[in-house]
Order: sequence, then structure tokens, then C-alpha cells
Amino acid sequence: MVSSSVSDDSAASASSTSSSPTSSSADDCPPKGRPDASDAAFGDVDDPVVDLSAITPPAATDPQSWTRSRLAALNAQFEPRDPQVILQWAVQTFGSGLAQGTGFGPSGVVIMHMLSEIDPSTTFFYLDTDLLFPETYDLKDELADTLGISITRVHGGATPDEQAEAEGPELWNRDPDRCCFLRKVEPLQNFLAKRTAWVTGIRRDQSSSRKKARIVDWAPKCEVVKVNPLATWSRKDVWRYIIENSLPYNELHDRGFPSIGCIPCTKAVDGSGYSRDGRWDGTDKSECGIHT
Ligand code: SF4
Repeated sequence: MVSSSVSDDSAASASSTSSSPTSSSADDCPPKGRPDASDAAFGDVDDPVVDLSAITPPAATDPQSWTRSRLAALNAQFEPRDPQVILQWAVQTFGSGLAQGTGFGPSGVVIMHMLSEIDPSTTFFYLDTDLLFPETYDLKDELADTLGISITRVHGGATPDEQAEAEGPELWNRDPDRCCFLRKVEPLQNFLAKRTAWVTGIRRDQSSSRKKARIVDWAPKCEVVKVNPLATWSRKDVWRYIIENSLPYNELHDRGFPSIGCIPCTKAVDGSGYSRDGRWDGTDKSECGIHT
């Protein structure tokens, strides 16, 4: 992996300390606790009742603790719970090893608000591809001010011009997977290498590929526990929360953009389909690769 540059957009620097567990020599437990493939399959848990008080911070630093059966039990426990309960657990369990990644979509805004109320010192970050809409950068600044939080900029290091020199012009048109890898996936992997848990805004109703998203999962590319507190929420739930709490949102949503990413790969749609419609329109690509 090449180094990604990480900087902070606000004066108060977000913590970059990590409680990342040490590497394990066990064959089935690489650094940060990959779920044991020989363990019970996800969902195959007879007794879904787990005492949450048993999930304590020390457990998060034990690579052996994130077995498939344990994750499945947690998911069964969390399925009917409010996102705030899940986030409270995540903050308590992972401490400074927890980081929320966001592209400032509606789900991300909701989670940022919830986390800012639980612990405003939580690490919040976004992947800056240099190709985001001006409205997105404006929203980032507004959220930092409104919620009183720091939002860390994660960047791959190469400007679009430097990328064009190395890879040819408009890579997003010729090889969007390569472009997403360079500008999103690799910087994310580098940033999460020092962390133990990653909070995302994934919801099951966003696309067909996200229908089976779990609330707590393992992210093999980044070797962290992935927490999707809004997995069970609908688009309607998210917008109700935003309106009820008077939260800012990207004004492009009012102009026909259900999902907003990089300028070259995002377009307005009629709004009748999935929340992710309008991304990489005209191709069979639907994910940038950070969630696959
Ligand atoms: S969304 Fe498009 S421009 Fe942005 S990193 Fe991916 S391919 Fe490149």
C-alpha cells in the first residue's frame, strides 16, 4: 500500500490514537481478529440472547474474540435495537479505535449526529478524491460547525493531474475500478490500518447488493470490525430523523441526486429506484469497492 495523507479540517485535531489489538500468531487470526472461518456460520446461533454488558472494551483488543458465532450473536441481539444503542456499544467497546467514515449522505449525517451526542471526540473522516461536489465540501464544513466535531480528511496523495500523468486522462471513464482503488480503497485501508472498528452508513434498502448487510460485520479488506447501525432503517426513517433534528443535508438531494459521490460518476435520476441510483450510470458498477 502507498501512504495516504491524512489531515484535519478543523483546529481541534481528531484523535489518531488507536487501541488496535496486536497481531496474533494464530493461523486463523491475523491482525485485528479476522472471524474464524471454521466457526459457526453467520446466523446459525441457537440462542440469540447476549448480555451486552459482557461485551466490554478489553474484548475488543483480543483478536480471538471476533469469531463468526460472536458476530452472529451480536447481530441477533442488535437487530431490533435502536441505532443509538448500537453506537453506544461501539463507542464503549472500541474507544479511540472507532472511526466513522462518511461521504456526507443522509445516513452519514444521521450517524454523525448520533455519535456527536454520544461522544463528540469520536474520529469522523471522509475520503477526499478531489472530485467531490462543491456542495459536499460546504456540507462538511457546516456539519463540523453545527455538531461541534472534527472531520478528518483522508487523501490518496495524488492529485487528479498527477493521476492523469501516471494512469492516463480521465481514468474514471476507462477503468473506474482502478480509479476508485487509487482514490478511495487504498487510502481507506491505510487510514483504518491503525483502527479496530469502522462505522458506515450502509442500509439494506440502498441497493440490491446491500440487501443482506449485517449490523456488525468483519471488513476483510481493512481488517476491522464494521458497524452499520442504520442497516435496518429505510430511506424514510433517515429523512424523518434529519427533519426532526433540523440537520443540514446536501442540497443536491433536492435536485434529483439520491446518492452523491464524485462529480464524473454521479448524475441526477428520477428518484423512483434505489437510493444508490445515479452512481456510475450506464455501467454495471454499483460500488466503489470500499464495501465489497
Ligand atoms: S467515483 Fe469515479 S471519480 Fe471517484 S474515485 Fe471512483 S471512479 Fe474515480
